[in-house]
Amino acid sequence: MNADKLLQLSKQHMWLPFTQMTDYENDPLIIESGDGVRVKDIEGKEYLDGYSSLWLNVHGHCKKEINDAVKQQLDKIAHSTLLGAANVPSVLLAKKLVDIAPEGLTRVFYSDSGATSVEISIKMAYQYWQNIGQSNKRKFVTLSNGYHGDTVGTMSVGSIDIYHRVYTSLLFDAIVVPFPHVYRHPSGDERVVCEESLHELEELFKERHQEIAGMTVESIMQGAGGMNVMPKGYLKGLEQLCRKYNILFIVDEVATGFGRTGKMFAVEHENVKPDMMTLAKGITGGYLPVAATLTSEEIYQAFYADYHEGKTFYHGHSYTGNQLGCAAALANLDLFEKENLIQQAEEKSAWLTEQLKEIAALEHVVDVRQMGLMCGIELVEDKKTKKSFRKEERVGYKATLKMRELGMLTRPLGDVVVFMPPLAATYDELAEMLLILKKGMEEVTALAVTD
Ligand SMILES: *Cc1c(COP(=O)(O)O)cnc(C)c1O
Repeated sequence: MNADKLLQLSKQHMWLPFTQMTDYENDPLIIESGDGVRVKDIEGKEYLDGYSSLWLNVHGHCKKEINDAVKQQLDKIAHSTLLGAANVPSVLLAKKLVDIAPEGLTRVFYSDSGATSVEISIKMAYQYWQNIGQSNKRKFVTLSNGYHGDTVGTMSVGSIDIYHRVYTSLLFDAIVVPFPHVYRHPSGDERVVCEESLHELEELFKERHQEIAGMTVESIMQGAGGMNVMPKGYLKGLEQLCRKYNILFIVDEVATGFGRTGKMFAVEHENVKPDMMTLAKGITGGYLPVAATLTSEEIYQAFYADYHEGKTFYHGHSYTGNQLGCAAALANLDLFEKENLIQQAEEKSAWLTEQLKEIAALEHVVDVRQMGLMCGIELVEDKKTKKSFRKEERVGYKATLKMRELGMLTRPLGDVVVFMPPLAATYDELAEMLLILKKGMEEVTALAVTD
């Protein structure tokens, strides 16, 4: 089918996620193929994948080893259910995940997206306390600006006004505590912010721990909430408080897992051992929808009983533990070892920190937040007063459209431009991306109407 016809059909019949369709109609895009860090649209134009196809891709597109693994698996079987039966690649992957995960996480419950992996953690934590006879522990504590997915449960433990406002009355009540923003704090001092925030949280725990089931947080860096980095020691502090007050510590590594922040999992930056850890995005190298909720043996044991005790975890999805996805995940993890990708990510991270200094110096860039190959660049009208651009200007959105014109894809979070290249991007490719990033932001901010 020719490109014009496809574009027309996409406008007629598609409804895209997180997309105002009038925007899509003005600037439609249909991707046809990908190779390495580049994708190509149906008109043959190439783009650098500056957001890893929404934070997923690790080794680039069409990576031979993953392609081969999926093809081999396809010739055996594409899918069989995990309800009451395991399958070969899901068992092998569970073992592999437990091997690389923080100590203490020994059980793997599969699903198919980041949201489902967090939804499962909520239901498990909730039922855990009932199964052990402490059914008064029902509440969840979360951080402001948190994002854990778009299902009703995960929105309830999330806290991003623009996404969640409409659904408020549909959601269950979580206790939201403020995210410890360093750059917006009057002291601007990481240690002060960390200590103050942990102190406030301890006051809350002291008073209400008997009704709190768990605390759900993104690991080290919040993603969709604007790429916010926790002050050093904060995640560790949360872990210690949760332990002290008998609250399950649930860490969402959906975005940060699999090398994204320069470690296999971001919890490793502070040697944190959560009770549950949720994984998705990079787990298959960005190939197929697989997710996992890892838990401690203690949690598992609370569900392990004679059938008649009614402690079964009644949850699952049709494609839970899909063989093709698990085969892709296994090939993905083999490549991490074979290509020494974590060390590569660490080195590229340090290099990127240097390169980003030039971007931080731009007239309208107020803050650059980076952990590994996960970065957010915040644009403002006035750098000194931190005054934002007028909302109607949509500066972040326009900057990414400009970048697309210049040959790189990414998406903004408001006026925070996201830069999340595939971990395997070479230094040359990264440099090419940074040039476009800079040019896109410069051109658009120079044209923005100010008041
Ligand atoms: C993307 C994301 C999710 C949701 O994952 P989906 O696969 O899109 O459902 C959950 N938590 C975090 C931290 C994420 O970044």
